[in-house]
Amino acid sequence: MTSPQVWDLYAIKYATLQERTRSESFIGSDPHDAAHMPLDYFVWAAVSPEQTIVIDTGFDGSEATTRGRALERTVTEGLAMIDVTAASVKDVIVTHLHYDHIGGHEEFPAAQFHLQESEMRYATGPHMCNHAMNHPFTADHISAMVRNVFEGRVSFYDGAAEIAPGITVHHVGGHTMGLQFVRVLTKRGWVVVASDTSHYYENMERIAPFPIVYNVGDMIRGYARLREQADSEAHIVPGHDPMVLDRYPAPDPRLEGTVVRLDIAPTE
Ligand SMILES: [Zn+2]
Repeated sequence: MTSPQVWDLYAIKYATLQERTRSESFIGSDPHDAAHMPLDYFVWAAVSPEQTIVIDTGFDGSEATTRGRALERTVTEGLAMIDVTAASVKDVIVTHLHYDHIGGHEEFPAAQFHLQESEMRYATGPHMCNHAMNHPFTADHISAMVRNVFEGRVSFYDGAAEIAPGITVHHVGGHTMGLQFVRVLTKRGWVVVASDTSHYYENMERIAPFPIVYNVGDMIRGYARLREQADSEAHIVPGHDPMVLDRYPAPDPRLEGTVVRLDIAPTE
């Protein structure tokens, strides 16, 4: 048997939304809770000597303008900080099709996209008739993914699957119908890149679901699924929490506040 591949794992912040409140982060929270709760946007990269697998694609400048987000760097620029060339990446795992996860797809012209079947169904089906469900999607991104399907550039999964030795995806739903999280074998064990299975640490810690949601029950069950697949609570990385940048070390002091290593144990 070949020994399992161990990966270096990075989170790269590319954008931020500072003007947010706690009331926007938890179902059932006090609607008047105006305490400041910024949200950061990340992509993640698993790197081995032979291969790089990117998780999600971010969004671009025009999307940032349309939606009032502050793009700090393109995902291509962010990946270049760890010496990864986005244009040559061969595999991109797409956790789900919201604009902030698929909006940078054009930066990966050589990539195969790895996606849950149910996510494509969700993003192209009747739920998209209503603004309440479709507002985090951008029709142009979804059309582009349909074109990618016809070009043979999308690999579909129905549940758990191995993308490469030491990298698996796990369908969880909840936030969207086909949301998947990613489990990566690193030198500190199995780390789970939760993406939007838990936006903040606090969503999973308090079992306090996020308000953008397709199925609340599946979202809550998702917090337990993360714990099942990670070696410990400290091996789970939420999708949008600025605290990720405080808890994990930068690979280089110049990248402080932008890039962190998730394959090194976090501080409290
Ligand atoms: Zn997101």
